[in-house]
Amino acid sequence: MSTPVIAIDGPAASGKSTAARNLAARLGIPYINTGSLYRAIAWKAARLGISTRDEAAVRAMLADTAIRYAAPAPGENPDIEIDGAFPGQELRAPEIAQGASNVATMPFVRSFTLQIQRDAAKTSLVVMEGRDIGTAVFPDAKYKFFLTASPRVRALRRLAQGGETPDNATVDSVAAEIAERDRQDMNRATAPLRQAEDAVVIDSSGMTAEDVLEAMIYCINEGKQA
Ligand code: C5P
Repeated sequence: MSTPVIAIDGPAASGKSTAARNLAARLGIPYINTGSLYRAIAWKAARLGISTRDEAAVRAMLADTAIRYAAPAPGENPDIEIDGAFPGQELRAPEIAQGASNVATMPFVRSFTLQIQRDAAKTSLVVMEGRDIGTAVFPDAKYKFFLTASPRVRALRRLAQGGETPDNATVDSVAAEIAERDRQDMNRATAPLRQAEDAVVIDSSGMTAEDVLEAMIYCINEGKQA
C-alpha cells in the first residue's frame, strides 16, 4: 500500500514551496516543508558559532538538539520548533541556505531528519516538499512530482521574491548560489537530489503558479499515482 503523501521534489528555487502551499490549501491538507529541518540545524550552528562543514562539531551539537514540527493553529501549516524556539523567517536568510546544504550532506543528519519526516506523515494525506521525499523518505508516496525550471527563471523568481537573497544580489550571483547548492545536493552520497523514476515532471519555466497547481490537480484527479 502506498503512503498518503504527495511528494514534491526538485532543485533550489524551482517553485516547490509555492506549489506545495497552493496544493495543500486547495486540498485542505497540511503542507510540510522539509528543507526547514536542515535550515534549523544550520541556524542553531550559526548561533553557536559552529561551522556547518565541521562534521564532528555538528554531530556533537545534534546529540543535544530537539527538533519537531509543532502542532499548527487551525488552517496553518506545521512550524519548526528547535530546542523550544521558533526561528520562523530567520530560516530563510541566504546564509542559512548554504549551511543547510552543508549539513544535509552528513549521513547522521539525514538519519536524524528521516524519522521526524516519517512521523509527520503517519495518518492523513499531506503534501511534503524537499529533495528526497519521493526517493528516500517515502519511496512509496502515493503521488510524486518533480518540479524544475531553467536556472535563469529560478534566479529571477528568487530575486523577485525578495527576503531570501543578499541586498546586493544580482541575477548572476543568485544563479551561481543556486547552482552551487544544486551541485552539492545532487552529488552527496546519501539521498542525493534526483528525480524519482515514477515522478511526474513539471518544468514550470513558462508556467504561472496557478498553471502548476492546475497541472498537479489534473494528475491527482486522473489518478496518476506513483
Ligand atoms: O528547500 P530548501 O531550499 O529550504 O532546502 C535547503 C537545503 O536543505 C537544500 O539545499 C538541501 O541541501 C537540503 N534538503 C535536503 N533534503 C530535503 C530538503 C532539503 O537535503 N528533503
